[in-house]
Amino acid sequence: MSEILSAVIAGAGGDELAALPLPESYRAAFVRRDEADMFEGVASTDKDPRKSLHVGEVPLPELAPDEAYVAVMASSINFNTVWTSIFEPLPTFGFLDRLGREGVWGARHALDYHVVGSDASGVVLRTGSLVRNWKPGDKVTVHCNYVDDQDPSAHDDSMLADTQRIWGFESNFGGLADIAVVKANQLMPKPAHLSWEEAAINALCNSTAYRMLVSHNGAPVTQGDRVLVWGASGGLGSYAVQYVLNAGGTPVGVVSSPEKVDLLHDLGVEAVIDRRAAGYRFWKDEHTQDEAEWRRFGKDIRSLVGADPDIVFEHPGRQTMGASVFACRRAGTIVTCAATSGYMIEYDNRHLWMKLKTIKGSHFANYREAWDANRLVCEGKILPPLSAVFPLEQVGEAATQVHHNLHEGKIGVLCLAPGEGLGIDDPELRAKVGEDRITLFRRHEA
Ligand code: NAP
Repeated sequence: MSEILSAVIAGAGGDELAALPLPESYRAAFVRRDEADMFEGVASTDKDPRKSLHVGEVPLPELAPDEAYVAVMASSINFNTVWTSIFEPLPTFGFLDRLGREGVWGARHALDYHVVGSDASGVVLRTGSLVRNWKPGDKVTVHCNYVDDQDPSAHDDSMLADTQRIWGFESNFGGLADIAVVKANQLMPKPAHLSWEEAAINALCNSTAYRMLVSHNGAPVTQGDRVLVWGASGGLGSYAVQYVLNAGGTPVGVVSSPEKVDLLHDLGVEAVIDRRAAGYRFWKDEHTQDEAEWRRFGKDIRSLVGADPDIVFEHPGRQTMGASVFACRRAGTIVTCAATSGYMIEYDNRHLWMKLKTIKGSHFANYREAWDANRLVCEGKILPPLSAVFPLEQVGEAATQVHHNLHEGKIGVLCLAPGEGLGIDDPELRAKVGEDRITLFRRHEA
């Protein structure tokens, strides 16, 4: 790998990279099948990713004709890596086994280790014989929609495909590694004004927020819309508020500390609620919600922006869904992509049907949506919310930070990149976008 890394850093051309021998094994972060019950009987919050995420050598799998090997310079922690590492709600080996039954190339994935990670920035090393649009030497980011293009159900909106998967979560050979194996239709150009780690963190959360708030497949924001964004300085939320601002809407961010309130103000979000300071108790006990608390929350939103939100950007799930459905305006939309605090949801259906509201499910993004979201990053119109960077060897610690909500924005992970700040090819655009804006989350965390 050191020869490959030296060549990448020296800016070697595609032919030179293509001529370098590939290693038989590579360094990767993985969980092990024989440890899938290691946390049995342990409370969710006490399940420790530092114990389950290992970093070590794994064999390089063969490349399918529609795939590429990518030398991963940097990756990021997504919540799905937390789920994999605590084996919740299910161990991800079941996903790998199912993929393993889909032909010879699928069979490579059903292993006793799962290389995790659903984001990457890096350089293409090799392409399979069917790959037309990419070549060794191309600088790329990787989105995580893993689609079988021979599946007819993938040919309207690929997120509707029966075989749709998330790479590095429901497939093997993910991005938290020195080499990733990806389908060519996961590749996108790397934003030239960003460093490897700034470029690596965006694809998963940015594309998800794009589909939810920009695409016609979600609940697109129009100018003047008020949009309630839970976790507004977190992975998804920090992109969501940028999309609302870009669309001429008014985000109402919900966060849980004064530092996060300040961060959002610096990002241009004026209306922010500190949910911890407000002390909302939407649940009186495990089984009973409190409408008076929903009402207090709704009043707080109105006092900030003068009306109920047109759209609610939901992902905390059980703890907040009742309040989200209540607070959303008549005929408004609650768009949801997750349930971090619990997936068995309860809300008062009277508030939904009597006020003609809609709950809209959303999940990641199709290639076009991911591509368009990436283009906005490339143009400097969406900023990378990178707040901290860890070396791959400390991937367990990085995942623990996300597990316990100790981070802001996104955490980057250096894989082959020997340090931070490398890989910036367009300093002029960087200066135009503004160093201060690009590094806002990093400076806040410091
Ligand atoms: P994240 O970086 O941890 O941010 C989530 C934020 O939600 C936290 O910063 C926290 O903000 C807030 N939050 C957590 N628990 C809460 C609760 N009980 N009540 C209110 N707010 C709460 O995670 P993320 O990357 O944004 O992902 C969030 C969820 O979406 C995860 O479950 C993830 O798996 C899922 N996800 C799904 C997709 C998809 O395609 N379906 C894509 C990306 C992520 P404060 O503490 O500041 O309020």
